[in-house]
Parts: sequence; C-alpha cells; structure tokens
Amino acid sequence: MNKRELEKKIHISRYISHDSVRSSIELPEKIIIYDSTLRDGEQTPGVSFTSHQKLEIARKLDEVGIDQIEAGFPVVSKEEANSVRAIANEGLDADILVLSRLRREEVDLAVECGVDMILLFIAASELHRKYKLKCSYDEIEARISDVVAYSKSQGLQTSFSTEDSTRADWKILKRFYTAAAEAGADRLGITDTVGCIHPEALRFLVQKVKSISPVPISIHLHNDFGLALANALAGVQAGARAVTTTVNGIGERAGNVPLVEFVIAMQVLYGYEFKFNTSKFKELSELVSRHSGIPVPVNQPLVGKNIFSHESGIHVAAVLKNPATYESIPPELIGNERNLTLGKHSGTHMIEKKLSEQGISATTIELEDILEKVKNLGEINGEVGDSEFWAIVDSVLTR
Ligand code: MN
Repeated sequence: MNKRELEKKIHISRYISHDSVRSSIELPEKIIIYDSTLRDGEQTPGVSFTSHQKLEIARKLDEVGIDQIEAGFPVVSKEEANSVRAIANEGLDADILVLSRLRREEVDLAVECGVDMILLFIAASELHRKYKLKCSYDEIEARISDVVAYSKSQGLQTSFSTEDSTRADWKILKRFYTAAAEAGADRLGITDTVGCIHPEALRFLVQKVKSISPVPISIHLHNDFGLALANALAGVQAGARAVTTTVNGIGERAGNVPLVEFVIAMQVLYGYEFKFNTSKFKELSELVSRHSGIPVPVNQPLVGKNIFSHESGIHVAAVLKNPATYESIPPELIGNERNLTLGKHSGTHMIEKKLSEQGISATTIELEDILEKVKNLGEINGEVGDSEFWAIVDSVLTR
C-alpha cells in the first residue's frame, strides 16, 4: 500500500489539528533514535542474547531504518565485546554506539571494536556519588574533561551523559555538562535512570541544559511510573534531539521508551516525518520477544495481538462496514493484522460474514440459533475458535 492510500485510512483526533494546539507544539528539525534493545534491553533481569541473536536484531533494526544502534557495553565481558565488534563489522547503515565508563582504557576498547560513537557516562546525583562512586565532584569533573577529550582525540563521536540526572543537583549537572562540552562532547545526555520525573519537569530540565550549551541533547528515560513515552514526547518538544528506545520497551525494571510507540506517535499524532519502514515493526517486535523470552502483552499498544481485534457485536458490525469506526490507524501501518473473534459479545453480522465467506446461507432462525450457541460457549471458554464455530454451524444446519 502506498503512502497516500495509507494516509486515507488514518483517522486521528480532529483536535490535534486545531490551531491553538498546533501552535503550542515545537519539534526539533532532526530527531535521532538510538535504540538500546541490545544494551539496556539486554539488562532486563533474566535476559541474555547470544551473539547470533544480537546480530539478527541489529540487522532487523537497520532494516526498519534505525539511525543509531547501541550495541552493548564492551567492558562487561569478552563475549559482549565480540558481539559489538561483529555488529560494527556488519556494514549496517546505522551508526553503532557503545556504552562506556569514564576510563581511557574503555575508550581504547570502543575504538578497537570499530564503533562510530561512544556513550560515556558517570552518575551525578548525591545518592550515587555517596553510595557508589565514593569520590568527590571535583575528581569526577576532572575525569569528564580528561576522558571526553581523550575520546575525541581517538576519533570517536562522543556523547557524555550524567547518570541519575533527574535526581542530581542542578549546580552539579551544570558543572559536568559544561566540562564535557568544553572538552568537545558531541552530545549531552540527560538520564532518568529510575524513571521518576514527569513530562513538565523533564521539559524544564531539557530547556535548562539547552540554555548552557548548544551541544545537542539526548534523553534516556525509564518507565517506572509508566511515563517514559510521555516524557520522551515532552523532551523532544523541549528541544532534545536524540531519544533512547528499546523494542517492546524492554530494559531495567519497567523498561524504556518503546520504539514503536514513540515512532508512530511522533509520525501519526505529531506529524513528524520519520523515514522508518514501519510495516516491519510487528516483525521486529516478535523477533525481540522471541530472543528475549519476554512475551508481548496482547494489549501492548500498536504491536499487541488485541490492538486490531474485535469481538463485540456492535464493534464488529461497524468494523465490517468501515474499520475506522473502531481503529484510528490501519494495522498494515505497523505490519499487524485485524482479527475478528467470536465469543460471548458476538453479534449476527460476524456469523453471517463467516458463513457467506464459505458460500453458506442460513435462515434468520438458524443464524440466531448459531449465535446463541456461540455466545454460550464464549461465556464458558472466552474465545470461540474456528473448529468450535464450524461444529456449532454443522449441528444447527443439519438438524
Ligand atoms: Mn537505562
């Protein structure tokens, strides 16, 4: 289906195009997605991808058109570094990124892995300094200046992020970001490490960082309050130019901004022109679900099994006439499919449709009899499957 045909099937809220709504929204010219399924996603408790699985996911991410792939944290293990190397050698269009602590030897390792960009980070909150880093802010600041400059001198695109930024004192953030920018950082990262900020405060923080430096800002957000996506949308509106996502939103604890939801919301609701091959999104979601062992919930937005499923008689009757009645976007936009199911909420339209597809006609009384039996079985079993349906049809029509 071409773009115009697809657009004709999109029926979103009309208030989105209201002048006063539109004029309140400002988006950066270029938004970069750096997907971290292979790094933060893999840090989901219990998840470990093999090198082969990582390569397969990286290829699929590249195929859908992801700008940047965070391939791993090479210092974690030899195997991890080997996976990163393999992905970097794959000749993908996407830039390959790695996570790295503020150490020269980790910069050397990134260079040796052949990646395009390094994501240097260090915690900035007092909680992390006191209980984890156990060194002074002065020492940290000196290390930022040293390692960012060193990374640049080694020819790496260099991003510097503060970890736990949203719980860090602004004076500290300002010092750290200024040091990184002065040392030549190409990107400054804000992280909501434990997912504890809301959209309005994140917007404020992005604007604050923007006010001290022209270096592009990235945001890495966790979903502990279920607000990662809303925070990402607020963050880009405040001027953040790079966003971490993961496929299916996997990652530490409640996970990260889900890739598909962010892209489709930006594209469909905010009218931002991304160049993703969105029809492969469902495939990508299934691949990551398979390799991570984490099932996609049936009600997962956009890619879940139920998103284009209809059972209730009223909905099915309307959807059969025009799917837009109960769907704002067509399933093919993300490679999902429509699914009309039978159960206790079914109505005669669905029964008639299934019969007529097989060239079977039935009287009104027979239809109602079939429907009653479908509803009764649905009450007991939930969904009524195809074989059960046809058994009911046989029993009624041969009577
Ligand atoms: Mn994280």
